[in-house]
Amino acid sequence: MVEHVRVAFGTGILLGLWRGQLAVAPTTAHLLTYYEGRCSANCKFCPQAREATADLRMLSRVIWPRCELKKVLARLKENSNKFERVCIQAVNYLNVVDDLCELVTCVRSACALPISVSCQPLTRQDIERLDEAGAERVSIALDAATPELFERIKGGSYTWQAHLGALEHARAVFGDRVSTHLMVGLGEGEQDMVDGIQLLHDRGITVALFAFTPIAGTPLSSHPQPDVASYRRIQLARFLIVNNLSRAERMRFESGWVADFGVERDVLDRTVKSGEPFRTSGCPGCNRPFYNESPRGPIYNYPKRLSSQDFVAIHNQLGTA
Ligand code: SF4
Repeated sequence: MVEHVRVAFGTGILLGLWRGQLAVAPTTAHLLTYYEGRCSANCKFCPQAREATADLRMLSRVIWPRCELKKVLARLKENSNKFERVCIQAVNYLNVVDDLCELVTCVRSACALPISVSCQPLTRQDIERLDEAGAERVSIALDAATPELFERIKGGSYTWQAHLGALEHARAVFGDRVSTHLMVGLGEGEQDMVDGIQLLHDRGITVALFAFTPIAGTPLSSHPQPDVASYRRIQLARFLIVNNLSRAERMRFESGWVADFGVERDVLDRTVKSGEPFRTSGCPGCNRPFYNESPRGPIYNYPKRLSSQDFVAIHNQLGTA
């Protein structure tokens, strides 16, 4: 039986579990399975990884304190109107699927919010169990945009093919309510990332973009964050692809940069002006404020509608000022 769960710091403030300042409120309540030890996998960027020495309360740059599940559910019941979604993230350990199903069932009984489960590759049977428990979406994070990079960053625990296979299983059970995470800045080129987004979009999988974030106590702690201008071009390419306004094959790359997005100038200008491409991407209702950056910036994923100041920064980054 699950007695404890980790709660993302911002979520905990909105639930009234602790006090704190919120520059932007999270629209998704983020929970993480609680496990005494480390994850059995060993992804090189992750503070939860088997060989990491990082603070186990962390996921990306966010602190996730341990809480009593009963208390979290009671607060969720009282405060569910503050959120649009609940996301249950998993570390990998024996019987984690039992815990995930129990957590989905408990959250289901506490509120009517749609539930995303973000987990490792599962069998078709286990994915069906999550569906029966009441999960609305499943996410299986690829993180790396190419098989070679995947092997280097997540290899040993996972394989690219098994991840794609599990995403196909998830599609068979959840239809178009399947997501994955791609992390920009692990060593891929812009064309690699754009091709990866196209491949996943063509398979009906929602791509959530993340910016690599160095965490102390992980093998990538001194690896730099991605160039913001490059991240903007990737965000723009992702938006055009997932809205079927362009395709990777129609884009042109020069010196490793996206030089042409494969759309008419007016379409590009309108798209940039909407600001939407630069907002946090992923499951509906997930804004993950400052998951990859400090509120002081530079901001990678904008967690709310862009201000005129934000647009000035974006135009400078894209060179469209
Ligand atoms: S996109 Fe957001 S809600 Fe969806 S699985 Fe990822 S972190 Fe969770």
